[in-house]
Amino acid sequence: MTAARDDADEPLDLLVVGGGVMGLFTAYYAAVGGARVAVLERGEIGDPATASYGRTRSYRKDYLDPLYVRLADEAVTLWTRFEQRTGVRALVRCGCMNIAKASVTADLADTYAERSAEMLAAVGMPLTTLRADEITGRYPYLDADVAHLDPAAGLVDLRAVADALTGALAECKVDVYEHAEPDAVRRGDDGLLHVDSSAGELVARKLVITAGHGTNDVLALVPGADLQVPLTRDRPSEAKYFVPPANARAQFGSDAMPVIAYLDTGVYVHPIVDGVIDKVKVGYYNPPDIPRDRSGVRDIADFVAQCMPGLADATYEDVHDVDQCDYDLVADDDFVLGAVPGVADVFVGVGWRGTGYKFAPWIGRVLHELALQNGSVYDLRRFDPARFSVLAPSPDIAHPATSFTAPEEDAS
Ligand SMILES: Cc1cc2nc3c(=O)[nH]c(=O)nc-3n(C[C@H](O)[C@H](O)[C@H](O)COP(=O)(O)OP(=O)(O)OC[C@H]3O[C@@H](n4cnc5c(N)ncnc54)[C@H](O)[C@@H]3O)c2cc1C
Repeated sequence: MTAARDDADEPLDLLVVGGGVMGLFTAYYAAVGGARVAVLERGEIGDPATASYGRTRSYRKDYLDPLYVRLADEAVTLWTRFEQRTGVRALVRCGCMNIAKASVTADLADTYAERSAEMLAAVGMPLTTLRADEITGRYPYLDADVAHLDPAAGLVDLRAVADALTGALAECKVDVYEHAEPDAVRRGDDGLLHVDSSAGELVARKLVITAGHGTNDVLALVPGADLQVPLTRDRPSEAKYFVPPANARAQFGSDAMPVIAYLDTGVYVHPIVDGVIDKVKVGYYNPPDIPRDRSGVRDIADFVAQCMPGLADATYEDVHDVDQCDYDLVADDDFVLGAVPGVADVFVGVGWRGTGYKFAPWIGRVLHELALQNGSVYDLRRFDPARFSVLAPSPDIAHPATSFTAPEEDAS
């Protein structure tokens, strides 16, 4: 809780339900714009067992869909402005490298590394391509035939982001209610949204729901809404920390090692980041839509043996301190971001497919624009929640015809 504002008796301009990174960024953009904002969070901000908190998340642009490539690039611009505004280093700019090896995925041309490199080239984003001898020269612990390095990618420092967001929200006198969730939502005679909660009755002009897996429960409270997002849960199959031998540790630090991804095998590797994490993290996830026998790698031990022999002598342990949480997958694999159909003044953002963190400032900015500016500078039609509703899309939201590029904003 923060100190009360002078206008404490006024209705809120915006109530955000769900205090993960999407909700906090929505509140942040609204609050720095001068709006009166509150956040309701069922648990605790910063719980390392939730999707938005922990140590590191990768930020990358290597999608096979040009829209997500451009949005990931746009998000980096917004992260950088966030860093400038808050004075916090959110991004660890170590790069991200997609690799492939013929003995693991025989058809190299069809690997994620090659296909995503083609996509990035097609949308004009530079990559550094390494020959096999350059790969072993620069990364002696690695055994790969293909490597494409995006230097403008890397890791997000989650604690730094959480601290910067909560600090900024406190400065703007945003009330963040923890262990509080809505019990009922009604439209008052005053036309405003009245939300009963364990934090009392909150009255707001606009409501944004960013409640992750709790989103459908909150939507069910909204009078007139039929939207239920077809969300499913999934989680990484394995995650391990590796502690390299002391004489090799420097090779695995973020100033020497990028995020390494071999997405055909489901494996990603995060380097050691001084002051953030002193172990190499290796995650293994086989998404439901990718056949399990597509590569010769069955688990993390197999990946290390075949592709990262330099970690073979490292000690390792399972990851338990973070990430005890699920991905929120949406049926058609697109974000759900926009107005709740058939209901005025209520907006939702969910379904980030296990890949949402990197987009968080963009998502927060969009939700704030929709709620408080009645439209967005971005074309959001592909993400319209109305695709899961029989009710009509909200008519009063303005979409530009084509643009995905926001005008420069004041970085002060
Ligand atoms: C293991 C793992 C690894 C990942 N790795 C990456 C990565 O490398 N790169 C990347 O970009 N993304 C990654 N992601 C995805 C990213 O972390 C998520 O997309 C993002 O954190 C989702 O944020 P959110 O705010 O929507 O959801 P959450 O963090 O789940 O926040 C929702 C909040 O709403 C609260 N809530 C729920 N119901 C209610 C209610 N009724 N009332 C009030 N509050 C409620 C919850 O307690 C929660 O705090 C990963 C996700 C996981 C799980």
